[in-house]
Amino acid sequence: MSKPVLEPSAKYSRVMLKISGEALMGDQGFGLHPPTVQRIASEVKSVQEMGVEICMVIGGGNIFRGLAGSAQGMERTTADYMGMLATVMNALAMQSALEGLGVFTRVISAIPMDQVCEPYIRRRAVRHLEKKRVVIFAAGTGNPYFTTDTAATLRANEMACQAIFKGTKVDGVYDKDPKKFTDAKRYDTVSYDECLAKHLGVMDASAIALARDNSLPIIVFSLDEPGGFRGILRGEGTYTRVQG
Ligand code: UDP
Repeated sequence: MSKPVLEPSAKYSRVMLKISGEALMGDQGFGLHPPTVQRIASEVKSVQEMGVEICMVIGGGNIFRGLAGSAQGMERTTADYMGMLATVMNALAMQSALEGLGVFTRVISAIPMDQVCEPYIRRRAVRHLEKKRVVIFAAGTGNPYFTTDTAATLRANEMACQAIFKGTKVDGVYDKDPKKFTDAKRYDTVSYDECLAKHLGVMDASAIALARDNSLPIIVFSLDEPGGFRGILRGEGTYTRVQG
């Protein structure tokens, strides 16, 4: 298959897409919902066809979160490793869905598990992107006490992504929960510091600080909007841009 060439309308040539594990569970409240995984995969495919190089980080909260485990008496680092393993399962599910749509995809894990996926080698990951393969970074940062938001920001910096796209259930960052308050206002742009000071819930604090310190914009958009990801790559639609 020939490699897609970057569409002139594309505003970015290499991006990181961060989604939570919960985005993959559909309405069932837990685990993986294959039709939902396939729907998100087709959104990713439509951007990959624009010639945009795509990195992905998928959380693990639909299966296991370290904090929840430790709250129930489990040793924290063990619980965090279980959370990281959950992200590998999600990454494999997304790889399977993308490959089912004909999109070449590599899963790269921060914790080596050679029979399952590739280990993280930065130059190799860059090469995959240059070949227009979607690269899914699994197992977070490989360290306990971190989240996949921080992993996404770290890998986005390492891969020289131009922005992180944080796919959520709403079309941006609001001053209060738009699902509860009808007068909630959406920000077009908001600074990293305001996100931190007002606890706007874009990403966790260490991820926002890492993005701020490296001037990496975070674009918060709705993943529920069909064609939304592709539209924003072309400069259309509604979203919030977190920047300096
Ligand atoms: N995790 C970790 N280190 C990392 C990334 C993730 O220990 O670098 C663990 C942590 O226990 C976390 C779980 O993996 O709760 C799942 O990740 P996260 O909570 O970020 O998933 P999301 O909320 O995005 O679904």
